[in-house]
Amino acid sequence: MVNASKLGWETLQRQLRNLEGRSYREYKGIRGDYAFPDFTLSVDYVQGDPFAAPSRIRIHLPQSVAQFPLQWITDYVCQCAIADYLTRQVAGVAKKLGQKRGSGKSGKIEIARPSQAILRRTATWIDREGLELRLTVGLPAFGRRIAGKAAAALLCEDIPTLVNRTLKYEAINAAVLAKQVHTLEDAEALRNQLTEQGLIAFIAADACLPRLSGIDERPLEAEADAFVPPVEATVALETPHSGQVKGLGIRAGVTLIVGGGYHGKSTLLRAIEQGIYSHVPGDGRERVVTNVATVKLRAEDGRSVAGVDISPVINHLPQSRDSQNFSTANASGSTSQAAGLIEAVASGAKVLLIDEDTAATNFMIRDRNMQALIAKDKEPITPFVDKVRQLYDDYGISTILVMGGSGDYFEVADTVIAMEDYQPRIVTEQAKAIAQSNPVQRQQEGGQRFGNITPRAVLSGSLPPGKGNRNLKVKARQDSLMLGYENIDLRAIEQIVEANQVRAIAQAMIYAERYYFDKTRSLSEVLDCVMADIERGGLDILTAEGTQFGPRLMGDLASFRRFELAAAINRLRTVKTDTHFNFSRD
Ligand code: ADP
Ligand code: MG
Repeated sequence: MVNASKLGWETLQRQLRNLEGRSYREYKGIRGDYAFPDFTLSVDYVQGDPFAAPSRIRIHLPQSVAQFPLQWITDYVCQCAIADYLTRQVAGVAKKLGQKRGSGKSGKIEIARPSQAILRRTATWIDREGLELRLTVGLPAFGRRIAGKAAAALLCEDIPTLVNRTLKYEAINAAVLAKQVHTLEDAEALRNQLTEQGLIAFIAADACLPRLSGIDERPLEAEADAFVPPVEATVALETPHSGQVKGLGIRAGVTLIVGGGYHGKSTLLRAIEQGIYSHVPGDGRERVVTNVATVKLRAEDGRSVAGVDISPVINHLPQSRDSQNFSTANASGSTSQAAGLIEAVASGAKVLLIDEDTAATNFMIRDRNMQALIAKDKEPITPFVDKVRQLYDDYGISTILVMGGSGDYFEVADTVIAMEDYQPRIVTEQAKAIAQSNPVQRQQEGGQRFGNITPRAVLSGSLPPGKGNRNLKVKARQDSLMLGYENIDLRAIEQIVEANQVRAIAQAMIYAERYYFDKTRSLSEVLDCVMADIERGGLDILTAEGTQFGPRLMGDLASFRRFELAAAINRLRTVKTDTHFNFSRD
C-alpha cells in the first residue's frame, strides 16, 4: 500500500537527526511512507518507549528491482517457497545488522521467527508486483531520549543494506533458492498422491526422523540412522524434481506401531504428525508427508471442556452428569482424551494419531480381568479398542497408534508395524496369528456403531471482554495464548510449530467472535467460514478491521489449520456453547 503523500528518504533522515535528544514520544511523528531509491519504506507503528513492543515497518520492493524469475512468482507453491526462504535469509542478515544502538531494544531488526516448516507467513510475500517484507525495529534511545542519529543510521543505512543483501535476486544464491522451491514442490506432489494411492502417510527411504532434542526441532544428523522402509510396505510415488521416490506407505485404516521401549516408535509417530507440513531442505523430513487432516490426540488432564457430546465413548458418569453435553473446568485424563477425540472428528479430522506415552490407559484399553471386576455399568468409558474400527467403518477416519504395552489392538488393526533399532518391519500376520491362537477374551463394549457426532454451536460473547473498546490484548507463545485475562494452554496441541501460528489463531478467534460465533452455526461451519475468508483474503483479512489508522498489517502471523483453531477455541475457558439447537437448513 503506497501512500500518495510519500516523502523522500532524505526527509526521514533529516527528521530523525533533528529528533536527537528529544522525548521518545516524538518518534510518533515518523509514521508514514518514504521513497528510497529502489524501495518504499513504510513506518506503520511507532513504539511508545524503548522497552515496549518494537516498531513495525514494511518494505516494498517492486519486481522491476527484485527481478525474480517470472515463472516463480506467479505460481502459488513457488511463491510460498521463496517467501519462506527470504524470511530465513532476512532473519540471519538482520541479526548481524541490528546492532545495539542504545537502551532497551534500540537498534534491533527482527523478522517473525520461522520453524522448520515452510509456512505462509505475513512477514514476507512475493508476487508479480513485487516483494513485501514486514519487520520490527527497536527505535534507538538513550534512556528515554531519542537517539536520532542512530535511528537515521538504522532506517536509512542498515535497512537499505538489508534489502540489497537479501531481497534482490542478483544477490541470492540461485541454486540454493531453487532447491527450496523444488523441495516444496516435491513434498506437495507426494502429499497430493496419498489419497488416490489409499495412503494416509508416506515416509521416504533415507529420511532422518529423530530431532536434535526434545526442545529442538532441528535434525539429529550425525548419530541418526536413516529410515529404511520394509519391502512389503514399500510404495513408489512420483515427484516433479526427484523422479520416483520410494518409501513406507501407511494405508488408510487402523495401523498399530509396536516395539520395545526406546526403539523409535514415538519418533516415527512424531514425524508422521509433522508430515502435515512441508519442511525446509536439510530438515530430514522433506519427504515425510501425511494427510492434511491428521490430528494428534492426547490426554490432557486439567483442560476445560465445554458442552461436548462425548456419549459415543463415555456414558453413565457419576452424579448423573450429562455426557451428551459434557462440560468441565478440570477434565480427567480419559475425559480430556474423549473430548479431544470428539472435537477432532467434529472439526473434520480424517486421521487420528495416538501415542501410548501421552494417552490415558483407561481410555485406550480395558482387559478381561478388569471387565470381570468392574461391571460395565460402573465404567463410563468405552475403551478406544472397541471404537477404533467403527471410527473407520462408520466415518472413514483412520487411526495410527503407538502401543508397545498391550496386544489388545492386534485384533482390530489392519497393519502392524514393529520398530526395532529404529527401523520398521511389517508384522501384521504374526500379530493376527497370535491374536487368533491366544484371544484376549474380552467383551466388546459400546455397541455396534461409533455413535453420532452432535454439532455444537459456539455462541457470541465467548471471548473474554477487552478493556473498553480497545482491542483485546493478545500475548502469544508457541505453547500458550493470553487473550485478555484468559490463558489458553496449548502445550498439548503438538501440531502447532510456531508462535506466529498462535498469533494468527488469536486474531482468527477475535475475527470469528466478530463475524461468525452464533447459535445457528456449528463450530465446524465457523471453521469453514474463517478458513475460506483466509483463503480468499490472506491472513491480513483477520486484522483488516484494524485501528483508527486503518488495517493493522501484522508481520508475525503464520498459516494454521482449522484443527488448531478449533483446539484453541475448545480450550478457551470463557467459551459458551449450545448443543441443543436446530440446523434449519435445506
Ligand atoms: P520409543 O517411543 O520406541 O520408546 P523413541 O521414539 O522415543 O522410542 O526414541 C528413543 C530415542 O531414540 C530418542 O532419543 C530418539 O531421538 C532416538 N531415535 C529415534 N529414531 C532414531 C534414529 N533413526 N536414529 C537415531 N536415533 C533415533
Ligand atoms: Mg515412545
